[in-house]
Amino acid sequence: MYSALQERELALQEARILGVRVHRVRMAEALQRIEQLISLREPNLVITADANAVLIALEDAEFRALMETAPLVTADGAGLLWAGRRLKQPFPERVSGVDLVEQLTRLSHEKGYRLYFLGAAPGVAERAAQNLLLRYPNAQIVGVQHGYFQDSDEPAIVAQIAAARPDVLLIGMGMPRQEKWAWAHRDTLGAPVMIGVGGSFDVYAGVVKRAPRWMQRTGCEWLWRLIQDPRKIKKVRNLPRFAWRVWRTPRPQQESARA
Ligand code: UDP
Repeated sequence: MYSALQERELALQEARILGVRVHRVRMAEALQRIEQLISLREPNLVITADANAVLIALEDAEFRALMETAPLVTADGAGLLWAGRRLKQPFPERVSGVDLVEQLTRLSHEKGYRLYFLGAAPGVAERAAQNLLLRYPNAQIVGVQHGYFQDSDEPAIVAQIAAARPDVLLIGMGMPRQEKWAWAHRDTLGAPVMIGVGGSFDVYAGVVKRAPRWMQRTGCEWLWRLIQDPRKIKKVRNLPRFAWRVWRTPRPQQESARA
């Protein structure tokens, strides 16, 4: 899925975190890449990766292959940003799924891109869309669908998304299911850009609150999320394992600079 982009010499700098590929991009560069992908009109996946994504990739060959080939893998989360600094391949900033949802809604408001929200509990993606439309009234949110459907409903849902002709399909069904699902259905879905955005719709619907800025800045957002949803303990428990593996990785002598 990379060749058309490579031909156009749009290669982005990448970091290797425990051998797993993550792009070293700012939000503005990520948005630029997404707009390029929209104009290419071929199905492509964008992955917003946190420390957990790296751990999943180490154990799941199918997900690893998606991370290896996706034309954009952004660094989402304090753990991954720390790992980038530690391994001397620093990420310029965090590019989270939550922020991408808002930025793409803004771009849709300005340029008319068609967005589709798939995922979260019934009613949540609708509410997220309504709340975002208050701020970006001309955004084209061309469809919403919750993420708790039966397998038997899948063909109808895929057809419904295809019929809405989204430029960007935002999928919040949890990692790695959202990425595998999108890639498996890419040809039928027909959306040029498919982005896994985890629990972002819950944030914009007001189901969960985003951490205060100071917590985001100091890398404590995971603690906020844990307080909001104690089921996240499974993910938080993985963080020391991630940190330990990064810590043991030999550090290069010199920091690799971004071009
Ligand atoms: N979800 C869904 N269908 C499911 C299971 C989960 O749509 O079968 C949604 C869930 O409601 C939540 C999101 O997927 O909105 C997962 O959020 P989380 O923050 O756990 O995402 P992750 O960090 O795993 O990407």
